[in-house]
Amino acid sequence: MKRWWLLAMVLVLALVAGACGDDDDDTTSGTTSDTTAVDTTEPAEEFPAGSTMARVKDAGTIKVGVKYDQPGFGLKNPTSGDVEGFDVEIAKLIVERIDPAVEIEWVEAVSRNREPFLQNGTVDMVVATYTINDTRKQVVDFAGPYFEAQQDIMVKSDDTTITSVTDLNGKNVCTVTGSTSEKNVRAQAPQANVTLFDTYTQCAEALGDGRVVAVTTDNTILAGLVANSSGAYKLIEAPFSEEPYGIGVKKDDDDFRDFINDVLEEIFESGEWADAFAATLGELGLKTPEPPEVDRYTETPPAPSTTTTTTP
Ligand code: GLU
Repeated sequence: MKRWWLLAMVLVLALVAGACGDDDDDTTSGTTSDTTAVDTTEPAEEFPAGSTMARVKDAGTIKVGVKYDQPGFGLKNPTSGDVEGFDVEIAKLIVERIDPAVEIEWVEAVSRNREPFLQNGTVDMVVATYTINDTRKQVVDFAGPYFEAQQDIMVKSDDTTITSVTDLNGKNVCTVTGSTSEKNVRAQAPQANVTLFDTYTQCAEALGDGRVVAVTTDNTILAGLVANSSGAYKLIEAPFSEEPYGIGVKKDDDDFRDFINDVLEEIFESGEWADAFAATLGELGLKTPEPPEVDRYTETPPAPSTTTTTTP
C-alpha cells in the first residue's frame, strides 16, 4: 500500500518537473518572452500595425487642427507664438499617451475647413470647439464628447433689446461659415440678417463697429471674447442649443477613435481634464463642470434631412 503511494508521488513529481522543464525550454528558445514588459525597456503599449497611433509614433510627429483665435480654447499667443487653451491641452494629453516623444505640428483650423482637413489628411485630428452631430458623422468620425457647450448671443454691454434668440429677427447678426451656430440661428430666428465670416474674432470686430448688433455661437467661445473686450460686450445668457464637443478623426478610423475615447475616460478619472479646464477656461472665470459621458457609437447615423444644403 505504502509503496504504491510512494510510486504515485514520484510519478506526479516527475510529471510536474517535466512540465516545468518544457516551460523553461520555451522561455529560452521562443521569441515571445524576449518581448515581455519585464524584459524590455520599451513602453508597454504596442499599437496595431497600420493604426494611426503606430504611424504617428513611427513618424514622431502628428498634425493637429485647432483654432487660433478663440481665447480659452485655441489661441495663438502673438508674443510667444505658442498655441494655448483647453482644446490645445486636451490634444497634448492624447498625444502624450501615444508617445511623449511625438511632436505636435499645430495647424490652424477654421470652422468650415475641419471636415476637409480630416478628409484630405491635412491634419490627423481636430480639437477645435467641434460639435458632434449626425451631419458631420457622414464624412468624419468623433471621439468624445469631452465638453458640452450651448449656443448663446453676445451683444454690446448697453444693449437691452436682445434678450432671446427670437429678438434677432430683423436684426444684423454675425456668425461663422460652416458652424452649427449658423444653422441654429437660421432655424430659430429665420428673419435675422446673418453675416458670415471665417472666424468669431471678425464677428467681434463687426459688433464693435456696428456692422452687426449681435454675435452668436457657443457660450464658452463668446465668454472668451467678452473677457477680451474690456467690458464692451456681454453675453445675454439665453442658451438655445446643445453643442457637445468631439475630437474629429478620419471617417472609420475606429482604432484611433477608440484610443482617444480611452484616453478621455482616463483623464476624466485622473483629474487631468479638470486641471486642463481650470488652467485655461478657468482663467476666464468659468467653473469646472463635470466631465460628460463618452459616446462610443458604432454605426453612422442616417443623414438628417435638412432644408438647406450649405450648413453643417
Ligand atoms: N461648436 C460649433 C461648431 O462646431 C460652433 C463653434 C465653431 O464654429 O467652432 O460649429
